[in-house]
Parts: sequence; structure tokens; C-alpha cells
Amino acid sequence: MKIDITSFMQVAGLMAAVLVGGINVASSQVVTGNSSDPTLYDYCQQYQTLYTKIREQAVSPDSARLEFRSIMKGLQERFLSSETIPSDSLQRDSLLRTGTYFSFPIRGYTKSAIGGSRGEGYRGNGFDLFDYNVRGSHPAQDIFIVDRNQDTNDDRTGQPVDILAMTSGLVLAIETDWHPGSDYRGGNWIWVYDPILHGLFYYAHNNHVDVSPGQWVKAGQKLGEMGRSGFNAYKTRSPTHLHLMYLQIQPDGLPQPLNTYQWLLMAQLSK
Ligand SMILES: [Zn+2]
Repeated sequence: MKIDITSFMQVAGLMAAVLVGGINVASSQVVTGNSSDPTLYDYCQQYQTLYTKIREQAVSPDSARLEFRSIMKGLQERFLSSETIPSDSLQRDSLLRTGTYFSFPIRGYTKSAIGGSRGEGYRGNGFDLFDYNVRGSHPAQDIFIVDRNQDTNDDRTGQPVDILAMTSGLVLAIETDWHPGSDYRGGNWIWVYDPILHGLFYYAHNNHVDVSPGQWVKAGQKLGEMGRSGFNAYKTRSPTHLHLMYLQIQPDGLPQPLNTYQWLLMAQLSK
């Protein structure tokens, strides 16, 4: 795994520049802490390791839950200490309502690409991030492109389709080693932590990943290119799509899937 140190070093600076926009704060302090505290990048590594262990069932669901809580708590504290994050829920809700907070995650596509007619592809019940054996739920929206020949390129342009960050955040973990025959379901995925929402976006089935853990991405920034990676996504019966999941971190530190349909409807489109 290659680490983009330059981007990582820019995280703190960008935090001030990007996140303060629209938020009334007096100062733009950078993320600081004692030198013995874990860095943001340490949390990225911990998350990458944890998620890989869950997938390989090398950790019990209970232990995974504990580790997850500790990582999320650490991340939240690091970002809250920057004073650039609105911790007040009213302030946060008004930010979300402006409609400019979210970017549609696929360049060149609109809400008509969302699976189903009213986003009913989302089924949140029964999901457990920490138990890879639990099946049946689909706490996500699938967003489809025009790719009848299943070469992962857009049939209209012959070009790959960019996956864009739905909101600004910290790239926590990526997978880039998926290959046909692998039974991993998410394929090449990207996890991004949004410190304002205190939640995680998960972008799955990519062909190519363009970002690295520790990197700060802005809403609308390219994360990768759409693909058909993943055990089921690779099968012919699966039309080429992005699997977009959002997990809201609860006060107890555990994740709760949330339907992104309304966010997708108001998201800014990218050509
Ligand atoms: Zn899906």
C-alpha cells in the first residue's frame, strides 16, 4: 500500500480551509495533540487492519466492536479538538440543508441512475458490520451506469466513469488488490470518514482507486473509477454500479446504516 505523505501532511491545513467554509468560527486551528497521541494516520491504519480482519473473520464480532468504537472515538476527538467542526447539531443540520454539502458520487450521472424508482434498493435491517457471515441486508444505494458490454466503461463515451467523494473527509482505508476469483464482496473499496457528520462513507466495486489512507478529500473530488470488482458485482447478472453505503456513528460509538437517498437527490452534480 502506497501512502501519500504529502496529502497526509496537508490534512490539517485543508481542514481549516475547507471545513470552515460556511461555518462561523473565530479561529482556524489545526489538528493538534500530544506527540504520544495516535495521529490521524494511525487511526487510518487501525481501521484498515480492523476491516481486513473482519473480512477474514480473524477477529470476533465483539472484539471488532470494541476496536471500532475506540477508533471512532479517537477520530472524533482529534477533529473536535481542531474547533473547525460544528459539534452543535443545529449548526450541522443547517449545513446539510443548504444542498451544497453533498456531491453526487458519479461524474456525468444524475439521480435517475439510482437503483429502483424511489431508492427502495436500501434495506438496512439485519446489517452487522462486524460479522462477515451476516447476509441479507443491503444498507446501501446502488447507482448504475450505462455499460451493456460490461467493460466498466460508459457506453456513451467509451471512457471510465469517475467515482467522486460525496462529502469532504479523511480517506480511512482502501482495498486495491481484488481480482476475479476472489470471494470478497466489496471488491476494491474506499472508506472515507466525514468528521462533520461523524460518519463513514463506503464506496465499493471500483475498478481503480485513486486515493490513499490519510488523504483529505473534498466533496466532488475523484476517489477512483467505477468497476465490477467484488464477488457478486463481477458476475454477468450484475449491471455495473457503485455500491454506496453510509454509516452514522452513534453516541455509543457503534455504526448505524442510514439511507443516503435524500442526500443523493439534493447532491450537486458533476459533469
Ligand atoms: Zn449494492
